[in-house]
Amino acid sequence: MRLVLLGPPGAGKGTQAKLLQEHFRIPKISTGDILREAVKDGTSLGKQAKEYMDRGELVPDAVIIDIVQERLAAADCRDGFLIDGFPRTVAQAEALEEMLARRDLALDGAISLRVPRKELVKRLSGRRTCRQCGTMFHIRFNPPKKDLVCDNCGGELYQRDDDREETIEARMEVYDRESAPLHEHFRDLGALYEVDGSKTTDQVFQQILRKLGKAA
Ligand code: AMP
Repeated sequence: MRLVLLGPPGAGKGTQAKLLQEHFRIPKISTGDILREAVKDGTSLGKQAKEYMDRGELVPDAVIIDIVQERLAAADCRDGFLIDGFPRTVAQAEALEEMLARRDLALDGAISLRVPRKELVKRLSGRRTCRQCGTMFHIRFNPPKKDLVCDNCGGELYQRDDDREETIEARMEVYDRESAPLHEHFRDLGALYEVDGSKTTDQVFQQILRKLGKAA
């Protein structure tokens, strides 16, 4: 299974990616996680990416395409993968399709999580993320048992810089301008599976499985 997850910030891509990874036993590639790790490690990629990320803008296509190309070449991606957070532009989608075509492969589908804008802002501004394992919580909708401590690994929970209200608006604008056109791109390819992302985590997951079942 070769899948990509589309949707605006806060749509639940990370949460669904984790479930799909376990269900299909395929590696999950999150470009946001790769970049955040690079920022944490202070690598040259991290230094370059941080400026864009802090402003809520996209890292340049060439940089992100290289990262994905290298990651997809790894042995664990041979029989399938799920990418969360890529493609985010039509140029990235075309680059991905070329990468796969060179190996006589194609995507099985692009899953799009649709969530009303108001709901997204509520989700993002209350989101807290574990510094160690990346598990996400929400201060109201899904609070950790102990304040600022991850239920999963005991790591510290923090608010991503780009989850602050002033940056959320910029990210939404970038999404509308750069990423929303991906829907048409994948619809034209007959590979778009749209899902109502405003339901519970499990309901969203079941919808995805149903859609993919129909697709198979
Ligand atoms: P995410 O965790 O997916 O919300 O990504 C966080 C930030 O990383 C984004 O706001 C972008 O600055 C950057 N980023 C992640 N994936 C991409 C991508 N495919 N293209 C460009 N920038 C990206």
